[in-house]
Amino acid sequence: MKITNNQKLPAPLVALLSRNYYSKGASQYSVTELMSPPKIRRLREQYDADMEVDVTKMIASQLGTFMHGKLEAKEVEGYINEERIFTEIDGVVISGAIDLQQQVDGGVVIIDYKFVKAWSVMQALANNKDDWVTQLNIYKWLVETVKGTPVVGLQICAIVKDYTPHSAQENYPEAEAVMIDIPMWKSVTTETYVRDRLNMHRNAKVQHEFGEDLQPCTDDERWVSETTYAVKREGRKTAIRVLKTMDEATELAEKEKGYVETRKGEPKRCTGDFCGVSKWCSQYQGELNVSA
Ligand code: SF4
Repeated sequence: MKITNNQKLPAPLVALLSRNYYSKGASQYSVTELMSPPKIRRLREQYDADMEVDVTKMIASQLGTFMHGKLEAKEVEGYINEERIFTEIDGVVISGAIDLQQQVDGGVVIIDYKFVKAWSVMQALANNKDDWVTQLNIYKWLVETVKGTPVVGLQICAIVKDYTPHSAQENYPEAEAVMIDIPMWKSVTTETYVRDRLNMHRNAKVQHEFGEDLQPCTDDERWVSETTYAVKREGRKTAIRVLKTMDEATELAEKEKGYVETRKGEPKRCTGDFCGVSKWCSQYQGELNVSA
């Protein structure tokens, strides 16, 4: 992957941001790779030499990585910092790096640091952050099956990068950093999930080698935003209201003698090229050609 410096940032900053701090140890899949869409992994592998990313796009994730590094070095009694746990399942080695295990009566509480925007916290508090739930439950499964230690709780320690006080939005975080409890799965549920994901990745590898179409990314994996319905009136620039259902919007439009404009959900991971491979993705490029 080539790293560009379009803003002509100073070389020391570029060198710092370009360093690859990530390691998955001697495993074939990390937990996050296992959870990520097989299509993205295969396309990234295929186009690695042609992929380009501007160094400015690495700032947010690297700031999180620096904080993780500092926290890892901060030893406090009763807590186990940054432990990578390996296991083998169906002949494949997978691993997960757990930020923190708090030793409590009866076992440990797993804590994962997230450096995120308030929007992610609001999603989690509305029980709408499945990726956090899945990730922490795989860590739980690793700790219980590999270390034999019972896990009695799962928590996200969310550090909110764009916090503003006095927000009236529902589920807005109360402070710059908040703890979020994550529901726990039974071990058997997690193991079934892990096996299913491994099979998906294995099948995608074979399909790709034989030149077959890769399994499409799902709406969740593409971060498709919700379709909304804006009630508008001729001569007015902004919408009177933006509603979640066509029925509600139609009713209001009739009252206001206006009309409804459908704002279709957008696959943000594709449109923002957050996967890094959107220009080689037949699924996304096919959609662009249809709507052109
Ligand atoms: S462009 Fe969208 S559909 Fe294609 S690999 Fe990326 S996330 Fe998946």
